[in-house]
Amino acid sequence: MGKPLVLLDVDGVLNPFQRPHIGYRRHRVAPNGVPFKLWLNRGHGPMLVELAASTGAELAWASYWCDRANQWIAPRIGLPTLPFVPIPDFPGTAEAVSLGAWKARHVAAWVGDRPFVWFEDEPDAAERLLDHLAEGSHLLVRINPLQGLLDGHLDRARAWLTRLNAED
Ligand SMILES: [Mg+2]
Repeated sequence: MGKPLVLLDVDGVLNPFQRPHIGYRRHRVAPNGVPFKLWLNRGHGPMLVELAASTGAELAWASYWCDRANQWIAPRIGLPTLPFVPIPDFPGTAEAVSLGAWKARHVAAWVGDRPFVWFEDEPDAAERLLDHLAEGSHLLVRINPLQGLLDGHLDRARAWLTRLNAED
């Protein structure tokens, strides 16, 4: 078993869908050549880096942004270049049950037997994960996409990772 992973979604987690609270700034991005705006909080990068460092975990993207998050998101919030789960574009509901199910399938395949925390706002990702992972050393931290990532979510992740380390 390798180091535990901390998996980050972008939209609905680092980029909340509603005008957020203090600490966020509006950014213009164009990951696919089409410009649009998102909200990002510069405090998130250092908080996530500290969480990983203090618990011996590794940060990675689990987002449809894939490697594009390293160019468009990471530098704006103070994250280094991170590994990413390769998630193909959602093929539609004929092929996969839902967005959450599609992501869960690819996350499960990529993490292998490494324990992981997943910050995710897709509502059914958690139960779909169970279709792919028989017994999981994993914690899915459900995020409200209107609010994005909050301190309490990081506290939950830290508590879980600390307990995991104590079991070793
Ligand atoms: Mg999302």
